[in-house]
Amino acid sequence: KKLAGEKISSLIPYQPGKPIKELERELGVKEAIKLASNENPLGVSKKVIQAVTEALHEMNRYPLGDAFYLRQELSRFLDVPPHQIIFGTGSNEIIELAIRTFVKEGEHVLSYAPSFSVYGIIAQAAGSFCKWVPTKDRFKVDFNKLKEAVENSTRIVFLANPNNPTGVYFSEEELVDFLNYIPKETIVILDEAYVEYVDAPDFPDSLKLLKKYPNLIIMRTFSKAYGLAGFRIGYAIGHPDAIDMLNRVRQPFNVNMVAQIAAIAALEDREFVRNSIKINREGKAYLYKQFKELGLDYIETQANFILVNVGDGKDVFDRLLKEGVIVRFLGPTLKEYIRVSIGTPQENEVFITKLKKILNKG
Ligand code: PMP
Repeated sequence: KKLAGEKISSLIPYQPGKPIKELERELGVKEAIKLASNENPLGVSKKVIQAVTEALHEMNRYPLGDAFYLRQELSRFLDVPPHQIIFGTGSNEIIELAIRTFVKEGEHVLSYAPSFSVYGIIAQAAGSFCKWVPTKDRFKVDFNKLKEAVENSTRIVFLANPNNPTGVYFSEEELVDFLNYIPKETIVILDEAYVEYVDAPDFPDSLKLLKKYPNLIIMRTFSKAYGLAGFRIGYAIGHPDAIDMLNRVRQPFNVNMVAQIAAIAALEDREFVRNSIKINREGKAYLYKQFKELGLDYIETQANFILVNVGDGKDVFDRLLKEGVIVRFLGPTLKEYIRVSIGTPQENEVFITKLKKILNKG
């Protein structure tokens, strides 16, 4: 502890879930349902499995350090020049790269709360910290408070849109107003991990804003709608100079070959992505309806999960777990809520049946 120092020993680690097989054994249930990590309930695209299986024969080689083929493919898909893209071992690695690249001694990062806890963990591990600004009514981002919080030493503002764990989004108008306000020396990282699920018409067309705002970086992932969470691959798009700086800090072979091949196949399998979005939209409508019938207040979501007020979040979480349904309890600041990932129709139904039983509304 002493050798790591106070900044590290006081870090509260990210809590990974137990392996599902262990839980099933402990609980004595045949098949637990995991709706806890906002994963894709459709599994992995068959095309991905095929491509990856073939690629295994070349795993004696180092991966392409510049993700050459994936970069070309994504560049075409997004209509963004290849040198404006960087890949990471999940978008988590991009968060770390950005903090290590841009946040110098005495500087910090800024975000709104509740949001993605990893911003704070990585900032602290790097010897800095994250300043959190509270949200408004129903977890809407309070841009006035964010503006007030920006200091000369605020190097990065992380804005998850849609947000995790609330599913709430902010509009293009709000974003542009904020970008116009903040100094060009402050980088805005738009974390769009769930962008594929969005259907709000006023959601920012963020790629279009890149030309005008060189301090804007957009971060996305293959972990959600593309179904590749286990492969660990995400990316960021930004000004060529910003991407160049991030690349200098990046480890040469950060993204393994299987992940690169998986991402190319996933990008090509548009039908899988379309199905993922469709099943999510239908699951969302079903869960909204059920929550309404149960008289439960939920937060409207643009992502693949819903934050729902169940009264005593920890108690309902524990009791669902005993029934073999794993959701997420988010701690004392959101103690009335659980966050449930939208699953397959069957998973959603089981979740609702168990929830009704627990709330004595069955
Ligand atoms: N940002 C947000 C808002 C997230 O919810 C997640 C995943 N939980 C990530 C980033 C990281 O995703 P990954 O590292 O799998 O790309």
